Amino acid sequence: MKKSKFVKVRCPDCENIQIIFDHPSTVVKCLVCGRTLSEPRGGRGEIKAEIVQVLE
Ligand SMILES: [Zn+2]
Repeated sequence: MKKSKFVKVRCPDCENIQIIFDHPSTVVKCLVCGRTLSEPRGGRGEIKAEIVQVLE
């Protein structure tokens, strides 16, 4: 079984740095501008932002 992770991403629109879960159950949006950063895709989320760092 895969471990869930958190990833640090940079919003492509406003460059806000945000830590998100890589297996989201709902759409994750940028807290600053509201851009979608990750969408649930039946388990692993599809990240739509630049990944800065993966946190184990
Ligand atoms: Zn943003």
